Amino acid sequence: MANWKLETLAVQAGYTPENGAPRVVPITQSTTYKYDDAQSVADLFDLKREGFFYTRLANPTVDCFEKKIAAMEGGVAAVATSSGQNANALALLNIARSGDHIIAVSSLYGGTVTLFANTLKKAGLEFSFVPPEVTLAEIDALVRPNTRAIFAEMLANPALIVLDIEKMAAAAHKHGLPLIVDNTFPTPFLCQPFQYGADIVTHSTSKYIEGHATSIGGMVVEKGGFDWSNGRFPDFVEPDASYHGLIYTRDFKACPYSVKLRAQWIRDLGSPMMPFNAFMSMVGCETLHVRMERHCFNAQKLAEHLEQHPMVSWVNYPGLPASPQHAMAQKYLRGASGVLCFGVKGGAKAGEIVMNSLKVAAIAVHVADLRTCVLHPASMTHRQLNEQELAAAGVSSDLIRVSVGLEHIDDLCADFDQALDKAGKA
Ligand SMILES: *Cc1c(COP(=O)(O)O)cnc(C)c1O
Repeated sequence: MANWKLETLAVQAGYTPENGAPRVVPITQSTTYKYDDAQSVADLFDLKREGFFYTRLANPTVDCFEKKIAAMEGGVAAVATSSGQNANALALLNIARSGDHIIAVSSLYGGTVTLFANTLKKAGLEFSFVPPEVTLAEIDALVRPNTRAIFAEMLANPALIVLDIEKMAAAAHKHGLPLIVDNTFPTPFLCQPFQYGADIVTHSTSKYIEGHATSIGGMVVEKGGFDWSNGRFPDFVEPDASYHGLIYTRDFKACPYSVKLRAQWIRDLGSPMMPFNAFMSMVGCETLHVRMERHCFNAQKLAEHLEQHPMVSWVNYPGLPASPQHAMAQKYLRGASGVLCFGVKGGAKAGEIVMNSLKVAAIAVHVADLRTCVLHPASMTHRQLNEQELAAAGVSSDLIRVSVGLEHIDDLCADFDQALDKAGKA
């Protein structure tokens, strides 16, 4: 399996049926597991052996999905969570205590900005937000003794800024910090951040990975090999009182971060992925590579089409040669994903007419599934953000975000043409 290509891993990794077993991963819809003797259960509780004893911690169906994503990202382990939001929250809480400090690139998904700048801030974490073009020297100046990580999105939603991941990894590693990368938009098919120096990858599997808009989910993936005993992470090297003095870096050398995440945070906050969602997400993920190719193809064509339209003032898609992100996309991404943004002449009002007139594309608060949808971030996903935060996230008031689906490209172009014509006549 180690040498399999991403496509083969997408189809087959995570679940290998035994002789006569179901070909498709079964849904283990059970909270509990039966054991013959007390010692087996005691050993499970002490993390002395692997197995299942309560679905809040681990479940066979979820376990298969975790193994599939870990294999596809090239990591040593993955922990599934109830949502992408939960994945990003736990990715930080697993290494930062109240009073600790995180550096985050500002061009983040709106939900992540709110999580960091409000909710986790109230819980005691401090954040420094830096622009994507931040220099190494600027990061050097921000790092404090209590800094615990650098966090960024590989392809920012919705600004579509491609992370200069090698720069960020160098900046993080210089100070013994892990680089955490939210890889939701590229998916492992378009980019594997571990190859460029990321240490932890997070996902909202609710997007392309599941792909059909049926199931919310998240994933935290560990690359392995990060030195958690470098002095910045006492919780990894000091005995865990909640596990009879277990020491993560000593007792779980291969994947201390993932064991700690599951044993402490998933256990204590109770936010695992549900087996049915894991099943849906895993089945969806098995066609990821085929879908992503078509998402990229359709988005490229629609971006080129909109660029020519007289009612369109600008188009932002990293796959366009004119895009300032084009070079970075060429460097790190196998395709520019299925999301593009554009501005309509006539601003927010004209934008509303376009949105309301579309027939193939629907207005939906989602991205990255097989049905084309549109969203006006300033009045929808990003409405909790103030003007400065909007600007930092790269969201202008005329910005329409299109998540290009898998319909025929001719139908999509015709749909946008008729809607733009209506706005032009208004
Ligand atoms: C959607 C999204 C999230 C949040 O994921 P949910 O599954 O909706 O909780 C986080 N990061 C990015 C980049 C996203 O697009």
